[in-house]
Amino acid sequence: DSAADVDAEDTLQARPPVVTIMGHVDHGKTSLLDALRGTDVVRGEAGGITQHMGAYQIKTKGGDLVTFLDTPGHAAFTQMRMRGANVTDIVVLVVAADDGIMPQTIEAINHTKAAGVPMIVAINKCDKHEANPQKVRERLLEHEIVVEEMSGDVQDVEVSAKTGKGLDELIEKILLQAELLELKANPDREAEATVIEAKLDKGKGPLATVLVNRGTLKVGDILVVGTESGRVRAMLDDKGRQVKVAPPSMPVEVLGIGGVPMAGDKLTVVDSEQRAREVSSWRQEQATAKRTATAPA
Ligand code: GDP
Repeated sequence: DSAADVDAEDTLQARPPVVTIMGHVDHGKTSLLDALRGTDVVRGEAGGITQHMGAYQIKTKGGDLVTFLDTPGHAAFTQMRMRGANVTDIVVLVVAADDGIMPQTIEAINHTKAAGVPMIVAINKCDKHEANPQKVRERLLEHEIVVEEMSGDVQDVEVSAKTGKGLDELIEKILLQAELLELKANPDREAEATVIEAKLDKGKGPLATVLVNRGTLKVGDILVVGTESGRVRAMLDDKGRQVKVAPPSMPVEVLGIGGVPMAGDKLTVVDSEQRAREVSSWRQEQATAKRTATAPA
């Protein structure tokens, strides 16, 4: 994209942070994502139906929105980054207070540093007798992570996904970090989004969960996504409700794409179906050329 494509300062508005949870297997990533989802004040309105779609958004008691990528896996994070899709604003590093720093904890630290994304350390399983949060903080020093408790600038919080302890504090820290980052996007333009995950549904056809980066995605929009094109026939939020519009940082499931795109693909809204076909066929040619160029002789 050209430099001219940058939105003017006066068009920018605050947008919710996008958070990825990383950490060693069994340290509680899934449990924490579930527990955080449970703090959503809007949950229940939809009758408790939550569909799995790779990302969800909660509304906090204070009315702020936070988007969580529900893809607890370092592979997904790295794969997205490799494809140029840096959608994560903040990483929450989960470390089990009984188990401490483990190989995938270190891997997560390295991925986060490489991505240049700020980190918040959530010391989990603090309900356990064997929990030793102080040891976790000390061991983090060896990896140049100096948490607040050790007079550093990396926020840390003791939590328990099991009892709910520290969850409000974790959300507060996420919001504080988001404020420091001054996350903004122009909501009043044609949308650009990133595919989080996609699949072929037997009844509905290709379905893609996308995260809106800027602009507002609307039902009826003509789009290009990766090498596919289409028109937004319907959109569902993370509670399975139909929505007409999706502003920045909102994850939605999009119906109406001609084929199944790939995670990390960029979605762009264009002004005509002809333009959509031009862009998608150009991208298909590029993809073929790239494959040919990299194929072994
Ligand atoms: P993941 O592999 O990082 O996603 O970890 P899970 O969320 O699947 O949790 C692994 C195990 O630890 C499960 O048996 C959870 O019930 C348990 N667990 C997760 N969080 C807590 C916690 O805060 N306290 C306790 N006692 N157990 C937890």
